[in-house]
Amino acid sequence: MQIRADLHVHTFYSDDSIITPQDLVFYSKKRELTAVAVTDHNKIGSALAIAQQTDFLIIPGIEVSSKDGHIVGLNVNMPIPRGRSSEETVDLIHKAGGIAIACHPFALFKNSLSRHVTAKFDAVETINSSSFPFKHASRKAQEVAEKFNLPRVAGTDAHYGPVIGCAYTVIDADLSVESIVKAIKIGRCKPCGGSLPLRLRLENQSRFVKKYLRNK
Ligand SMILES: [Zn+2]
Ligand SMILES: [Zn+2]
Repeated sequence: MQIRADLHVHTFYSDDSIITPQDLVFYSKKRELTAVAVTDHNKIGSALAIAQQTDFLIIPGIEVSSKDGHIVGLNVNMPIPRGRSSEETVDLIHKAGGIAIACHPFALFKNSLSRHVTAKFDAVETINSSSFPFKHASRKAQEVAEKFNLPRVAGTDAHYGPVIGCAYTVIDADLSVESIVKAIKIGRCKPCGGSLPLRLRLENQSRFVKKYLRNK
């Protein structure tokens, strides 16, 4: 079957997101996704906990702050330490049973991998709806995916519910996490969608400001 999955979403277990587990499922269904990856910063527990709470297919993930830039691990079953080299981080993700995605490799202001993308990765996130400048970052990501002949995926990097699903990956797989990651690894996937509309970008930011003021 064809799976539609946003492969890069943060929940309120990431300090910078306001997406509750309920929002996550609500907006994923509203956008007609069939699965969604939870990729909170440097933690796996939130994704595993949310996966237990719902029948909707949650792909447990993590976004690791490696020394060389952000790396998304999908289907990891243990925590991955931050601050290691990109190479070591990819190895640790593989040891944890997961696949390593070079997320937003050329976006500005996002701690991007840039020249640290290598053939060791399992896929490149060629569409990241929140990346800036969107067109340039997407084109460079596309080029590096071609250079290393790596599968291409898409995600929103959502920190605010309505953003979920603006980009998604169509995957030729069964409705299970194992099947989805296997299919991505062999390139049976296609990135879809695009940049956040300006309204969502602005709302996203005003939400951050409100959250910041509330927490002060
Ligand atoms: Zn990131
Ligand atoms: Zn992210």
